[in-house]
Amino acid sequence: MSPEPGPGTRLDPWFGSYAKRTDGLKVSETRALFAVANRPEVVSLAGGMPFLDALPMDLIAKITSELINTEGTVALQYGSGQGHPLMREKITEVMAEEFITAHPDDVVVTTGSQQALDLVTRVFVDPGDVILAESPSYVGALSVFKSYEAWIEHVAMDADGLVPAALEETIARLKAEGRRIKFLYTIPCYHNPAGVTLTVPRRAEVLEICRREGILVVEDNPYGLLGFDGQVTPAIRSLDADGVIYLGSFSKTMAPGYRTGWALAPHAVREKLVLASEATILCPSQASQLSIAAYLDNFDWRGQIDVYRGVYRERCQTMLAALAEHMPECDWTVPEGGFYTWVTVPEGINTKTMLPRATTALVAYVSGVAFYADGQGGRQMRLSFCYPTPDRIREGVRRLAGVLSKEMELVNLFGPHTEGLAPDVQNPAPDIA
Ligand code: PMP
Repeated sequence: MSPEPGPGTRLDPWFGSYAKRTDGLKVSETRALFAVANRPEVVSLAGGMPFLDALPMDLIAKITSELINTEGTVALQYGSGQGHPLMREKITEVMAEEFITAHPDDVVVTTGSQQALDLVTRVFVDPGDVILAESPSYVGALSVFKSYEAWIEHVAMDADGLVPAALEETIARLKAEGRRIKFLYTIPCYHNPAGVTLTVPRRAEVLEICRREGILVVEDNPYGLLGFDGQVTPAIRSLDADGVIYLGSFSKTMAPGYRTGWALAPHAVREKLVLASEATILCPSQASQLSIAAYLDNFDWRGQIDVYRGVYRERCQTMLAALAEHMPECDWTVPEGGFYTWVTVPEGINTKTMLPRATTALVAYVSGVAFYADGQGGRQMRLSFCYPTPDRIREGVRRLAGVLSKEMELVNLFGPHTEGLAPDVQNPAPDIA
């Protein structure tokens, strides 16, 4: 059937038919890059892919084949919308590492924590509602928030994470404007993209402010166990069971291919999340859940996390040393874990317009603009050290330094490059009663 003539265009006959909530959807900065960044000649400091070569593949193959041989009809069948009881039990053991006490009944297994983000937003956010998010914040979360037509309000962060005074001021201003704040979205450990960690005293302060103001905290913590020194900072959820929804994931501590994450939510919220999840996916993959449960049972998974920590620690040190050697005119954060450092380039350079020249020089990064809802970030970029080997990291930073110095020459000759840089502003919030 061909569409009625009228609202469409020659390029997209359904142009006029899309729901309004798709207005905020656009190709992510990371996706647009992926095709180029994945070519072998390019050193990609762009993607956040875990280094899976560090996994015991032979053991995982054995566990998987045993699972299918012994429990194939369960593993390959539909399952519970909330997730397999065994998986939920195991998830509470993993969260205990972050000092969280929880009951398996309050865990909802999801298709990666990305789906948990979707469910939480779906359950809480109406168009125009405000979500507070760090400045900058995770690009994948911003996409979810935009797809539900939320208004994203960034809150300042520094080397110690979210700034409590800025949080207080932002809440007061928004409340005075009559805006409805639905939750604070925070990535407290080894932030994506900023690389910083919310200090312990600040965790208590942030929680205290949110409690006082009646604002839910959504704690997204996929990197929490990946501190380079093996220390684990108690999760915000460990301080408050009623005011925090905690999101976790096996993507970084094991492997993203299983697409398994979870939400731990106060009882009543949990019920809504399960209903929303059933309406979306019926149930998460049983095969993935049972494979992960078997892995956790049969393998020293804590030891494996230590292996990952060692790999990422070395790569982070390599990257920071290379930045100090080749890009001293820039500033960067010093991560204590996770995958990323956040680099600020000299004034006049725009990391978005520079990107094509970087890829031509066979190095890729993600421009800072991807991590803001309001067009900031032109002087920043996210560099990932998780995937390339130390040699490739050194080479990538060397190439990037070459691109930067040429860019500086251009800026000195012609002034800052602003062409084509229309600010990326959000949809205006609808009138709020
Ligand atoms: N939150 C953050 C902060 C992330 O960095 C990521 C992945 N990059 C996710 C959520 C989603 O992870 P997954 O869906 O693989 O669990």
